[in-house]
Amino acid sequence: MPIDPTQPYDDGNIFAKILRKELPCKAVYEDEWALAFHDINPLAPVHILVIPKGSYVSWDDFSEKASDAEIAGLTRAIGKIARDAGLVPQGYRVLANIGLRGGQEVPHLHVHIFGGQPLGPMLAR
Ligand code: AMP
Repeated sequence: MPIDPTQPYDDGNIFAKILRKELPCKAVYEDEWALAFHDINPLAPVHILVIPKGSYVSWDDFSEKASDAEIAGLTRAIGKIARDAGLVPQGYRVLANIGLRGGQEVPHLHVHIFGGQPLGPMLAR
């Protein structure tokens, strides 16, 4: 069920629990700004989620309210994770779903990194 990105941040969401180490994840990267882990239901051979450490519901929220340092930190983490996973030579995809029409299911901003196979058209027609 897609979330409403205009709602206030809910501390009980599953990624907040992962950040607080209340729930496990298969972590691939962590720094001051971001945590990255394997998606529990991968849609490609490489499917990593990158989340900011700050409490942001969606890309909308993050792009409006996050500090320049938080935005730079998340952006650089995404690039580094993809490089370290060896995805650059053959290419990969970065995607963030926002709200109802975007199909966002978890109300903590997460950026998907997909790779490891040809990824097909950007959207189904
Ligand atoms: P979205 O549809 O963009 O909100 O994506 C949510 C993603 O979170 C989906 O790809 C889920 O498979 C993934 N997901 C949900 N719960 C977990 C979890 N506990 N650990 C890792 N990935 C998860």
